[in-house]
Amino acid sequence: MKYEAVIGMEVHVELKTDSKMFCTCANNSDETQPNKNVCPICMGHPGTLPVANKKAIEYVIKTGLATDCQIADFSKFDRKNYFYPDLPKGYQISQYDKPFCENGSILVSDKKIGITRIHLEEDTGKLLHPAGAGYSLVDLNRAGTPLMELVTEPEITSSAEAKEFCKQFQLIVRCLGVSDADMEKGHMRCEVNISLKPVGRDKFGTKVEVKNLNSFRAVERSIEYEIKRQAEVLDEGGVISQETRGWNADKQETYLQRKKEEAHDYRYFPEPDLPPLDLTKEAGVFDVEKIKNSIPELPLLKKYRFINQYKLTEENAKIFSEDKELANYFEDIISELKAWVDAKGIDGGLIDHLTKLTANYILTEIQRLLYVENYSVHCCKISAENFAEFITLIHEGKISSSGAQTMLAEMFATGGDPSNILDEKGLTQMSDVGEIEKIVEEVVEANLKSVEDYRAGKENAIKFLVGQTMKQSKGKANPQIAEEILKRKLR
Ligand code: ADP
Ligand code: MG
Ligand code: ZN
Repeated sequence: MKYEAVIGMEVHVELKTDSKMFCTCANNSDETQPNKNVCPICMGHPGTLPVANKKAIEYVIKTGLATDCQIADFSKFDRKNYFYPDLPKGYQISQYDKPFCENGSILVSDKKIGITRIHLEEDTGKLLHPAGAGYSLVDLNRAGTPLMELVTEPEITSSAEAKEFCKQFQLIVRCLGVSDADMEKGHMRCEVNISLKPVGRDKFGTKVEVKNLNSFRAVERSIEYEIKRQAEVLDEGGVISQETRGWNADKQETYLQRKKEEAHDYRYFPEPDLPPLDLTKEAGVFDVEKIKNSIPELPLLKKYRFINQYKLTEENAKIFSEDKELANYFEDIISELKAWVDAKGIDGGLIDHLTKLTANYILTEIQRLLYVENYSVHCCKISAENFAEFITLIHEGKISSSGAQTMLAEMFATGGDPSNILDEKGLTQMSDVGEIEKIVEEVVEANLKSVEDYRAGKENAIKFLVGQTMKQSKGKANPQIAEEILKRKLR
């Protein structure tokens, strides 16, 4: 490849506020009845006045703080004028030159991607085009929904990085609780800007913007398609024209929507019906310090903490860092186990072992059971205390690993106490040497051929004899102890 890709992203996220951006209508993206949540303000009737949603502004500031942005002292709303049937006022209230947040960054696989700005605006309504009808329908439920827009610097260099950036941003807004950012539901929409330049050249090429990408896959594939298309044009000595393109998911290709010459002149001007915001003077209304303190531990920091504190693999730490409830559950169990270890006065190395055991059970068995039942972890009936006890039973050899599976399934189904289940289900592992020895003696008597094989050097024969011992004990013998006894006897 003789070209380098230069990519910048624009990401829109619908904010999860109770009411809309400038009126008191419910902000409910699940509403199915058209034009239910509307009022004269969000329908753009003349003479109505907007009032800014405080929560929405706080959410943008919160997002800005979480992405290392500078929060503006002075900010304002502007009108972006254009005509379209889903825009009842004939203009969108947005922010032009004084956004709430500027100059931030998000870390994507150890690379800092610069954030140019994050601003606040309102969403449009939706148009429906009934098949075969000679008309279109307008649904204004979405009109006036608070919409946060993030714009990155042109610092992304591949489709994979662009996709990862979107994923990271989605994790952040979910962690902050400002948006569900569900791409399938249109809560989060991406646009990519792409240009190519010869390797090593500083000057950027002409960019093409691809709009309305509503899945991570579409972000990735549309970039790959554009890189290939633009490279072909350049190879043939052609020029890339500045244009807006759409993404056809069926054909997996971008298509021309409009050229630069047809670009709108939005005639931005300050919104006269909303006062500018002085965030320093209005510290009583917007307490930036307080918003900062309300930010929970972000996924990336949590990942590194889990690696350091719990000595988890990066892969496992990542899973926990992306699922707050699962991580909380895990940490509750670990603190129960710590208390148990401390009470026993055993040395520190043990807790690492128990932590590893816990992580393994949660990330395999529990995840599998949750998946099968289609539960989220807060529906899990196993209390942290019972889970911790379960882990100690395994550690102490009171239950075999196959018994552990049975027990966990039972605990998952009933929320029962492990020691009760141990008795009821007869899952106690036989670890008493004398008892196992008796069974081993019977097994040896009954399998003299295998004993000879073992003595003749067939190592595998011991496995068979352990298996027979397990069978004879109805699965209850501790297999390690059984093997030790067998080896000793055969010697
Ligand atoms: P516009 O005024 O066309 O919206 P901006 O300068 O505001 O353009 O940039 C919009 C997005 O395009 C940003 O994400 C920015 O990083 C990206 N961008 C700007 N120039 C280029 C370029 N030459 N190639 C790729 N992306 C670019
Ligand atoms: Mg743009
Ligand atoms: Zn309204």
